[in-house]
Amino acid sequence: MANKMADRYLDNNKQYASGQAVHKPNYPGKQPINPAKHVAVVACMDARIDVEDLLGLQTGDAHIIRNAGGVVTDDAIRCLIISHHLLNTNEIILIHHTRCGMLAFTDDLLKAGLEGDPAAENLLAQATSRSFTSCKKCASTPSQFHAFRGPLEPLDAPRSTAQMERLEWDVRRGMSSILNHPWIPTSGPDAVAVRGFIYDVDTGKLEEVSYPGPMGSIG
Ligand SMILES: [Zn+2]
Repeated sequence: MANKMADRYLDNNKQYASGQAVHKPNYPGKQPINPAKHVAVVACMDARIDVEDLLGLQTGDAHIIRNAGGVVTDDAIRCLIISHHLLNTNEIILIHHTRCGMLAFTDDLLKAGLEGDPAAENLLAQATSRSFTSCKKCASTPSQFHAFRGPLEPLDAPRSTAQMERLEWDVRRGMSSILNHPWIPTSGPDAVAVRGFIYDVDTGKLEEVSYPGPMGSIG
């Protein structure tokens, strides 16, 4: 039962990347609350990504959880637990992508810039090609920005081996967070399957990330 939709969505993605629309945009009529395909997707908020289109999801098929990076944060875990235990999803798809903004800063750098450190302000302005305006105040939340680990690169830098390694590392970290969470079952009749992908914003194609793969080799 579990893990059967991701392969279908990979086929849909090939059609999407070749210019064919799979997602139907029209209102589908009354539908049940539970996602029809028992799927939950965690994806980056990047403006170049349309999750329904690139996977060929129809309205009602899946939960779609989006944040900066598509990171498996505490809040994403919260959503996934509700999605599985209350709304009957059993397949999780993680999507990171090339040229992600989360490759271009670190948590400490952004925090220092927001708090008023002039050197951090300059670096962030250079990275984003816009003036960075510090708020010159401290704040206790968010506790983390979840910028990706590893050597920084300019904002929107093209795909490279090093970039793919950093993206893969964070996809695997997210898969590990899910697979090791005590409230997300991964064996037995109520098991949840997890697969991770990187979406190439220059081609429209998804590429699967192996798991477990090497851990802790970045940065
Ligand atoms: Zn992104």
